[in-house]
Amino acid sequence: MPPPEHLYPPDEWRIVEARWTPEFSDRTETAFALSNGYVGVRGALDEGRPALEPGTFINGFHETWPIVHAEEAYGLARTGQTMCNVPDATVLELLVDDEPLYLPTARLRRYARVLDMRNGFLERDLTWSTAGGKHVTVHSCRLVSLEHRHLVAVEYEVTVDRASPVSIVSRTVNRIGRPGSRRREGVDPRLGTQLDHRVLNGQLAEARGGRAVLAYATTNSGMTLGMGIEHVVETANPYDVTDSVTPDLAEVVITADAQPGVPLRLVKYVAYQTSRSVPARDLVPRCDRTLDRAVRGGFKALAVAQRENLDRFWSRADLLISDPVNRVRAQQAVRWNLFQLAQATWRAEGAGVPAKGLTSGAYDGHYFWDTEAYVLPFLAYTQPRIARNLLRFRHSMLDRARERAGVLELSGALFPWRTINGDEASALFQAGTAQFHINADIAYAIRRYVDVRGDPGFLVEVGAEVLVETARMWESLGFYGGDGCFHLHSVTGPDEYTTVVNDNAFTNLMARLNLNYAAEVVRWMEVENPTAHAALCYSLGLTPSEPDAWAAAAARMYVPHDEARGITPQDESFLDREVWDLEGTPPDRFPLLNHFHPLVIYRHQVLKQADVVMAMFLLGNEFNAEEKARNFGYYDALTTGDSSLSASIQSIVASEIGDEERATEYFRFALLMDLADIEGNVSNGVHVAAAAGAWMALVFGFGGVRDFDGRLTIDPRLPRRYDRLEFPLRFHDRQIRVALTHEEERYTLEEGGPLDVTIRGEAHRLVRGAPLRLSPSPRDVAAST
Ligand code: BGC
Repeated sequence: MPPPEHLYPPDEWRIVEARWTPEFSDRTETAFALSNGYVGVRGALDEGRPALEPGTFINGFHETWPIVHAEEAYGLARTGQTMCNVPDATVLELLVDDEPLYLPTARLRRYARVLDMRNGFLERDLTWSTAGGKHVTVHSCRLVSLEHRHLVAVEYEVTVDRASPVSIVSRTVNRIGRPGSRRREGVDPRLGTQLDHRVLNGQLAEARGGRAVLAYATTNSGMTLGMGIEHVVETANPYDVTDSVTPDLAEVVITADAQPGVPLRLVKYVAYQTSRSVPARDLVPRCDRTLDRAVRGGFKALAVAQRENLDRFWSRADLLISDPVNRVRAQQAVRWNLFQLAQATWRAEGAGVPAKGLTSGAYDGHYFWDTEAYVLPFLAYTQPRIARNLLRFRHSMLDRARERAGVLELSGALFPWRTINGDEASALFQAGTAQFHINADIAYAIRRYVDVRGDPGFLVEVGAEVLVETARMWESLGFYGGDGCFHLHSVTGPDEYTTVVNDNAFTNLMARLNLNYAAEVVRWMEVENPTAHAALCYSLGLTPSEPDAWAAAAARMYVPHDEARGITPQDESFLDREVWDLEGTPPDRFPLLNHFHPLVIYRHQVLKQADVVMAMFLLGNEFNAEEKARNFGYYDALTTGDSSLSASIQSIVASEIGDEERATEYFRFALLMDLADIEGNVSNGVHVAAAAGAWMALVFGFGGVRDFDGRLTIDPRLPRRYDRLEFPLRFHDRQIRVALTHEEERYTLEEGGPLDVTIRGEAHRLVRGAPLRLSPSPRDVAAST
């Protein structure tokens, strides 16, 4: 079944809610969420209610809690980590003649909410008639600054048609861990944990005229939060300002005698600061400074800087697609997904990328392999500086990963399957800690970043250390069996519907890459940078024989193969299991994880997400074309797509094997995952990996871009459904533009010196000022200009 279309009217740069549709607030609170990678605000109404699940999140700011296992076992994850829903400071309640503007109201004359992806703000315009028949127009504009990472701002303007008392009540509301906080029902493990202890303890609450400042410390994790709100009123109407503040509620009230047609304009600035070590009160002066600067510059300057940041983003990331069936909608959906990637990463300095970005508390705000396997490729090709920061952040967790390896009787380092603070937070070890492949996903991401950026300096800086420690983990996890092969037992691959198995093909292949790459990098350093090599050996106690041992384990790595079917079994015993009857499973029993005991799922051949197919994408140079087609055919029929991470990978491999129909359909699933709410859970936030997957399906799938062995290769396969696909790539500090149509392919080097690339198997040199034009028919003779 093809995916449904999304409900927003077609518009290339904007997502528009043309009338207030409360039944869609589950979708709009996510679709209209704003974030800069440090702070994120869900798209609830300015009035703060009615709202399904309002939320403000700060990347990495979390509470811990003891995980209580019904039955204890040694080494299970002990400490739950939950990203906090911090006090919401966007709330602005409007009263005219003491009547609150409260949606729903039958007296709403005009309403539109617009997410502007070029300017980076959320605007709302409405006209409301009060019970007394007055017409009130309200314009608001909310932004989470991409320029100033601690700052959120809301411009709010009210105009009445008849003289009226007007009040704007500006609030901060603490909703986390308070008695009466909404409890969740059902079994969905993907939702965030509802904390029912008091999480934020007030350390300071002060009102100073139009400004209120608050400081908190969390109960268990010991993290601190400072925040401040400031109000600037611009109006020719007489007005006054009062305030009151408690730790759970700060209120600044602006009351005006509004004259007809004379606007009352308020700008609310909000600053957040968080820390693991600085006392909460000491964060307040930092907030003050942020607020002072914002007030000095004004809202307009913020809006200009917002646009400049986004211009920088789009100049490297904008991707043009033309779908004659749905010309504007496809472009709109592509941009919305890319915009989510900007929002999730732009200012994520010193932190990771939660699975939902900062658009919800689902998955507890944890970092998974999603960052390295999905988000990082996009960043490596468009915003390498951010890619590098994310890898540095992973490196900063190395000590915790070393400790974790020790707990599991392993050498080196084992990165946690899911975490915020570096500790394993995955309570269910079968689908969690057992996903040892996270180590190799990180190693792969390092290699990709280094190859795409052409930045071996990163290896010297921190990359080699991670590679050595991850390789050590594999060597100690595996063993040589009676067959002389190197085996990895009791592991879980990406497909979480089959757990704790022997020799998961994905894991073994990725571990092989990790081992080989670590050995290669250490040897390269020995030759190219003996000083750095000596330092590495000294600090890690690395002996000359270790790289040889890794290379030997890699060379003898066991990779399952089924001779009769000519396919790669997902693991050693996968093909012996009973095949799940997907056709016969009623639609209301998906996702399986919410409707069947894990053991029912585990004992069947059924996939939550691409596993061997993922390996064929990441390690496409290790499979031949027939293997790819056979494996894809086998596993596609067993894949539920219950994970949003799956469709994009299925699309890429379908493209590669020439299954254009599926490639297109899976791409559209990834693309519309959230805008069309395909999994029915968009209220729980943006599926960031699916958004990155949509980019991958376009660039790696239809565009056929690969970077095996550090060389850029392109093998385009533009499906007939689309007329045109055009995308920028940054590779080795060169800026390249690829423009594909069914009549012509054009490869332009826009910045940097000549670059050797391979297009459909032929070597070409891209030179500035001379775009390479090729005929799209496969294996045609190159005709460059
Ligand atoms: C998927 C994982 C993913 C996680 C967070 C799970 O449902 O199976 O692969 O890392 O979601 O997005």
